[in-house]
Amino acid sequence: MEKAVKKEQLYEGKAKKVFATADPALVIVSYKDDATAFNGLKKGTVAGKGAVNNRMSNLLMRLLEQRGVPTHFVEELSERETLVKKVKIVPLEVIIRNVSAGSFAKRYGVPEGIVFDAPTLEFSYKCDELGDPLINRYHALALKLATEEELAAIEKYAFQVNEVLKEYFLHLGVRLIDFKLEFGRLPDGTVVLADEISPDTCRFWDAETGEKLDKDRFRRDMGGVEEAYQEIFKRVTGE
Ligand code: ADP
Ligand code: UDP
Repeated sequence: MEKAVKKEQLYEGKAKKVFATADPALVIVSYKDDATAFNGLKKGTVAGKGAVNNRMSNLLMRLLEQRGVPTHFVEELSERETLVKKVKIVPLEVIIRNVSAGSFAKRYGVPEGIVFDAPTLEFSYKCDELGDPLINRYHALALKLATEEELAAIEKYAFQVNEVLKEYFLHLGVRLIDFKLEFGRLPDGTVVLADEISPDTCRFWDAETGEKLDKDRFRRDMGGVEEAYQEIFKRVTGE
């Protein structure tokens, strides 16, 4: 298929590369094993991570499409490469939390593991130079990062994603603690879910043991990083 042939590299990020295709509306995302944390300060590689993140993200995007959340997903091309609709990324990281962890626990001085009565949503301004600062919707509107309508759609989809994934992972014996989403605009202005959903962008805790099955093992030098990625992948794919 001609559209699935990689042309020039458009971008190299911390975890993925993006390539043009013959079709200007489509790009190929290529997942790397590189891992970073703390705004790029900590660097490393996690063997097999790229393949896990690619395949897991695609599986979850397909599930979400079935449940009415529009996504950028088009076609999985290989273990590490996927054809997606090219979008203009809305420069907001959308974070949903079901349980206190990470920066929430640190910022508010509470332990990790507090179960919230209702999920929370927060935005970070996607800007590496500024270290992705927390931002509220008024500031996002003031900076024209998104319109009121786009923010409403993004918030609605983000909570919808949470409901679908929370239930899905619980059936696999995994608690979905929190996660980060990115959204983008198609040429017609429609907002769709983009980027990835993977152990790099979610916190997963084993429902029985509380064991961490996500990137926190890398961030916190806990060991067993590759094994954790393989374990969550096995739960999701049955492989
Ligand atoms: P970062 O830019 O934070 O280092 P990555 O290494 O994951 O992150 O790079 C992937 C880049 O591609 C990100 O900037 C992400 O916002 C962007 N992206 C994700 N999905 C799409 C898409 N469908 N179209 C265009 N860009 C996308
Ligand atoms: N997250 C992410 N990319 C970021 C920041 C956060 O994917 O740049 C994810 C992270 O994996 C976790 C959730 O968003 O699942 C909430 O992260 P938090 O704000 O607690 O930040 P952290 O502890 O990672 O600094």
